[in-house]
Amino acid sequence: MERKLASVVTIDDLQPIKDADLIEVATVKGWKLVVKKNEFRVGDHAVYCEIDSFLPLKPEFEFLRKSSYRKMGEQEGFRLKTMKLRGQVSQGLLLPVQVLEGYDYVMGEDVAARLGIVKFEPPVPAALAGICKGSFPSFIPKTDEERIQNLSKEFSSYREQVFYVTEKLEGSSATFYFNQGVFGVCSRNLELLESADNTLWKIARALKLSEKLAATGNNIALQGELIGEGIQGNPYALSGQTVKFFNAFDIDTQEYLSMPAFREVMKVLDLEPVPLLDENFLLPDTIAALLLLAEGTSMLSPAGKAVEREGLVIRSADRTISFKVISNRFLLKENN
Ligand code: ATP
Ligand code: MN
Repeated sequence: MERKLASVVTIDDLQPIKDADLIEVATVKGWKLVVKKNEFRVGDHAVYCEIDSFLPLKPEFEFLRKSSYRKMGEQEGFRLKTMKLRGQVSQGLLLPVQVLEGYDYVMGEDVAARLGIVKFEPPVPAALAGICKGSFPSFIPKTDEERIQNLSKEFSSYREQVFYVTEKLEGSSATFYFNQGVFGVCSRNLELLESADNTLWKIARALKLSEKLAATGNNIALQGELIGEGIQGNPYALSGQTVKFFNAFDIDTQEYLSMPAFREVMKVLDLEPVPLLDENFLLPDTIAALLLLAEGTSMLSPAGKAVEREGLVIRSADRTISFKVISNRFLLKENN
């Protein structure tokens, strides 16, 4: 699913912030953000820009310069990050619908392109990027997870189920597949040409992935997170690189394996899954409470050092429900 970075929303709630006269906290779906007092009313339509939005240099966004000016490669703009104001976590930006200059929008519509908003992406190191063999195979879904803040409508129905909880690792997405006799290696968005020094191909050889996938006798893809030296600042202080897996996808049936079946495949192939924190998890009453549970120490913390975990990925056993809960404490410390 393409992420809707900026969309038309209805403001669900506005509440005062203790000891603050000029600002208040707005609720939009499962998101909370600080806004100027009296700028909006509950029920107003507005444009909500999520964190990681990169807004263009335009006069109407100049008020963001002090807090958010960044370059992305050569491109200048304003990057929205998680902030804390007067003790209140604030994520994203609300703009009056007037920024759409009379455009006849539909509620929920993605208006990022119309406003020149793109996603802020840090540059990819060369050894990771590799040489492109082609686009991402059409017979495998790209890895992605929706944020719980965008699932506020579904949240209460999810509370009837038990879930698998894994730690969300901070690395780079990797896909390895075996399909009709052909083994392939892909980064987040591309298939990579085999080479001696590409990190993902090196790992594929080290873990004997081609042989292991072929031995399953199925057309199958494994997807995981590449972590270690040179990747996202290597928070887990690993030497070298490795992949921890989170998905197995049956290419013939076009279905992900269930969580128990996935874990069985990991055992049989002797591969490492992402850390499992709970397999009988019940959701708390609110998204706010779940966000607090996402904060914690990584299972991959090196000895003697508590590493802030990025968050959780939560899935139903049959894997039809899957979402991420990013730790706000992690986001507030993040400095890219
Ligand atoms: P966004 O959607 O927020 O713009 P993004 O699409 O780059 O960002 P991430 O925030 O990195 O995605 O979240 C999804 C990614 O998380 C997956 O593509 C996968 O690579 C990675 N990931 C890390 N740990 C796990 C895990 N335990 N389970 C599933 N995915 C995981
Ligand atoms: Mn995504």
